[in-house]
Amino acid sequence: MSSTHVESLSTAVPALEARRVVQVYRRAPIVVTHGRGTYLYDSEGREYLDLISGVGVASLGHANPELARIVAEQAGTLLHSSNLFFHPYQGQLADRLATMSGLDRTFFCNSGTEGMEACLKFARRYWYSAGEKGRTRVVALEGAFHGRTMGSLSVTADPHYRDPFAPLLADVTFVPANDVGAIEAAITADTAAIVLEGIQGEGGVRPLTPAFAAAVQAACDRSGALLICDEVQCGLGRTGHPFFFPVLGLRPQLVAIGKALGAGIPIGAALVAEDVARRIDFGDHGSTYGGNLLACRAGLYFVGQLLDGGLLAHVARVGAHLEARLLDLSRTHAMVRDVRGRGLMRGIDLDGPAAPVVDAARSRGLLVNGTARSVVRMLPPLTISEQEIDQAIDRLDAALAEVAGAPR
Ligand SMILES: *Cc1c(COP(=O)(O)O)cnc(C)c1O
Repeated sequence: MSSTHVESLSTAVPALEARRVVQVYRRAPIVVTHGRGTYLYDSEGREYLDLISGVGVASLGHANPELARIVAEQAGTLLHSSNLFFHPYQGQLADRLATMSGLDRTFFCNSGTEGMEACLKFARRYWYSAGEKGRTRVVALEGAFHGRTMGSLSVTADPHYRDPFAPLLADVTFVPANDVGAIEAAITADTAAIVLEGIQGEGGVRPLTPAFAAAVQAACDRSGALLICDEVQCGLGRTGHPFFFPVLGLRPQLVAIGKALGAGIPIGAALVAEDVARRIDFGDHGSTYGGNLLACRAGLYFVGQLLDGGLLAHVARVGAHLEARLLDLSRTHAMVRDVRGRGLMRGIDLDGPAAPVVDAARSRGLLVNGTARSVVRMLPPLTISEQEIDQAIDRLDAALAEVAGAPR
């Protein structure tokens, strides 16, 4: 690339978008052009250590050569055939997900939000076929994020996302996360389902407490309410476990997944227990793209790497290293109030806004992301090495020092 072309990209791309793209994203001022492993590169040739990985999506790192080969091969064979016909890969991926999760069946869609939407619809369908048509009440948690469609937004707590789109689903009750008394009171005989993230991601990397999870499970057992676990962010190896719900002792009938599953190819799913699946009929739900050949090939490669390729054990090992290094940072930087998360899903909670630290990190070649105002979140590729973690910590250390030293 000539230098004039390079310069024009970094100004022309934002200028064109400002005129032509609906302005729902406040983007950082870089134009990314390519990646390799844990590194991302921009149009000015700058290199970044990427601890966001497209918000937990590039689970195998950027430009993974074997994934690229599989995707290219499938593109040259057959990309999409619709759900009017069988193809060889949907059943294979569903089989692996069933073994991994203990939930017998999978419905395939294209994103985490759609996975959650399917879970909500299947919960409705379950009570409808059970002859309890009025059992539609859903309990969700404060701080929750489940997506942006009308259904998934209805169980998302943030008023900033919700208010402009009211009225949403009417029968949703929000309960403070980790408040045992409140959840016991909220789950009653007319609760259709409770929906939760084992670790709230957008809500600031906040794990549920074991006591709260036990109270949820007991209340579901007592009332018959279905349990929907949103594992879109914390599932699929992110915490060093295949899923996080068993770590909390939860036994959901419905699980939403997405993000890491396609390692960059869009795919989402709802995992469904047999007793719920038994009440779902032909035509009840569907998706044109859902579970197409390309997405399933990517999903099969990802799951294979996770379970057979040693990736899960790798996440557990380097995740512990990341935690230890973040705890070191919290001892040397007074502005770090808390270090939270599991495996390679981590957040540091600051005593001020996260944005200045995120910006300072980026200017030092480190990509992290701010969430819940004061939390610097890290969701690196699951393939990140200890050495790359050390390099990231050095840059984060410098960014924290810069922000602490700046006049406020
Ligand atoms: C990202 C996310 C979603 C939404 O997934 P999309 O792929 O953006 O639709 C839902 N739930 C959780 C917990 C998430 O982190």
